Amino acid sequence: MHHILNACRKSGQIFLRLLYPVRCPFCDEIVPGFEKLVCDTCKKELNPIKSYCMKCGKHVQQGEEYCRSCREISHNFNRGRCLLPYEGKTRKSIYRFKYGKRQEYAKAYAQLITEEMDDFIRSCKADALLPVPLHVRRRQKRGYNQALLLAKSLGSIYDIPVCSHLVRRTKNTIPQKKLTFIQRQNNLKRAFKFTRNDVKLNTIIIIDDIYTTGSTIDAIARLCQEKGIENIYFLTIAGGK
Ligand SMILES: [Zn+2]
Ligand SMILES: [Zn+2]
Repeated sequence: MHHILNACRKSGQIFLRLLYPVRCPFCDEIVPGFEKLVCDTCKKELNPIKSYCMKCGKHVQQGEEYCRSCREISHNFNRGRCLLPYEGKTRKSIYRFKYGKRQEYAKAYAQLITEEMDDFIRSCKADALLPVPLHVRRRQKRGYNQALLLAKSLGSIYDIPVCSHLVRRTKNTIPQKKLTFIQRQNNLKRAFKFTRNDVKLNTIIIIDDIYTTGSTIDAIARLCQEKGIENIYFLTIAGGK
């Protein structure tokens, strides 16, 4: 009985992939076969960050413990990891994920994250995953929150609950990439708010698509500290300069 069910599930998956071919997140071409989520060519080219800053997870030269910015500024989180350098195909991939309605990429990113960072995720022993929220108007315009999609994919793999409504974005901030560091800090001040007071979490992983200066994650981590959350980690698809 069991393998009949498995066979049915399998043929169901094959049928679905015939109907809705899976596109590789990095080249956007259809991935042949019925199991892989990333094409072989891109898989070979991908360069997951192996030598990383012990604080923020961005790429550092071998032998270096912290990146330049983590040596200069302190953060409100314990530590975090980024899967890929924010460049080339990855940069374009995340752009399509955010603005090009490629929601299905979340699954492939989550799979790559588990391949590379399984130890890190398990060692966090997180009570919950906290996706960085979008302002409601931006979410309505985009149709979805990409960080929430990624958190859901990871949450289902690791069986960790996703807190999708715990933090709200109160101000529709100017896109961070257009601002300088100081402007970013000001832009983010009071940009987030907890929706509940009775937070009983001890350890969380904040989930986002890109880590750059860390100001977004720091702003949320700060709030989490105020709510008594003791261990705050983060995880992103990419880490940029
Ligand atoms: Zn590809
Ligand atoms: Zn760093």
